[in-house]
Amino acid sequence: MAKKYENYIDGRFVKASRGDTVDVINPANGQLVGVVTDTPVSEVDEAVAAAKRAQPAWEKLPAIARANYLRQLSAKIRANVDRLALTITREQGKVLGLAKLEVAFTADYIDYMAEWARRIEGEIVSSDRPNESVFLFRKPIGVTAGILPWNFPFFLIARKMAPALVTGNTIVIKSSEETPINAYEFAELVAETELPKGVFNIISGRGASTGNALASHRDVGLVSFTGSVPTGVRIMEAAARNLTRVNLELGGKAPAIVLRDADIELAAKAVYDSRVLNTGQLCNCAERIYVERSVVDQFAEKVTSLMKATTYGDPLADEGVSMGPLTNQAVLKKVSTLVESAKSAGAQVLTGGKVSDQDKGFHYEPTVLVNCKSDMGIMKQEIFGPVLPIQVIDGLDEGIALANDSEYGLTSSIFTRNINSALQASRELKFGETYVNREHFEAMQGFHAGRRKSGIGGADGKHGLYAYMETHIVYMQG
Ligand code: NAD
Repeated sequence: MAKKYENYIDGRFVKASRGDTVDVINPANGQLVGVVTDTPVSEVDEAVAAAKRAQPAWEKLPAIARANYLRQLSAKIRANVDRLALTITREQGKVLGLAKLEVAFTADYIDYMAEWARRIEGEIVSSDRPNESVFLFRKPIGVTAGILPWNFPFFLIARKMAPALVTGNTIVIKSSEETPINAYEFAELVAETELPKGVFNIISGRGASTGNALASHRDVGLVSFTGSVPTGVRIMEAAARNLTRVNLELGGKAPAIVLRDADIELAAKAVYDSRVLNTGQLCNCAERIYVERSVVDQFAEKVTSLMKATTYGDPLADEGVSMGPLTNQAVLKKVSTLVESAKSAGAQVLTGGKVSDQDKGFHYEPTVLVNCKSDMGIMKQEIFGPVLPIQVIDGLDEGIALANDSEYGLTSSIFTRNINSALQASRELKFGETYVNREHFEAMQGFHAGRRKSGIGGADGKHGLYAYMETHIVYMQG
């Protein structure tokens, strides 16, 4: 019988007293990996209540003491990279090398946020009155909630809990129903630290039940969500009932513009990596490629030969594959539908273009499409798969106009050797992030934030940390 994984509430692992169960499936072979609970409202209440009880004492600790608990945790994560990576690969499907990177990056991220402990600053503001001092403090919000997707499930726990905890908040995390086991193992490591009970809680469950109960909870002061646009809208609606703040990291449809003076080899490799890393299931990676007419054949030839050389399959059965499966049947169907509709609207397949004939798992062939047009779904909707669609442009102005014409606004990139083109793109691209002559991938000290439907607020760096605090201004006369 498959193991049933419990919730971690108030410093203890607890079985939910009722609630449906959710099966966790290995997407590479369709096998059952474990079972979790669709945590019912009453137990969401318990988790939030535990976080609420723990918060005042946690806030009173010096920030450096809070940071020291985080460092205990990062050390334990580092000591367990291989085991944790195996769990991530088994339930999510990414190749082991990437899963190990994810775990190691998670430990580094926690340390980075811990380093902010001695750098959190308020302000002293000049007063209009004699003998008055005006102090602006930065205070924790209180109880925060993190709702997670499945694509980088382990790292995203840290992206929410580390800034929340170092600034004096407590947190309740809801893992994705697709990938809850790595979250359980994260909690096991938390349980081995001396972190006070109730400061960090993690629950499993589906979005419409457990997730909605958390987002609409009146004792939650901030919901930090990473996931799709439609869910972001629902979470914002649920949070609005209590005027709860939201921080939304949503989908992307990142453009990459390749100009004729670019290093085509470098551009091809960076764009290719975008579509194969995590089997193309990344919010930030290049998803629609605009290439200047005179170099489009050269660029397409290079990415096609890279795609043709891409091996894929079950990353645990064959550690040598460069790509794993898609995470579930719904993602596979969406990728396939987008490609089919592009084909019937005139896109030409240079390689791939169909669901793999491997008999197990959710595999899609590494694919390159040319002759794509702006009105095709493949150039407008998030693909989230190993598909690289190319559209021809006649110059930078057209590239920028097409790039900006999107409901998404997370990341973007340009490949050029002309500094004026790079500067024009940096001025005119309307995105949260722009990468010049490199792959799309944010740094922890940057600020990962989307415009338009890609989100509200952001994560990482100073600005991401300050999202977990509110201001308190004190006017002191005398
Ligand atoms: P999803 O929106 O389907 O689910 C994300 C989470 O929301 C899950 O935990 C789910 O249970 C929960 N949820 C669903 N309905 C809910 C509701 N009504 N109330 C509360 N919670 C609810 O997303 P996904 O398929 O897990 O992840 C893929 C998406 O995530 C993609 O769109 C991708 O672009 C996005 N993403 C964005 C970033 C970023 O930083 N911007 C990072 C990673 C992934």
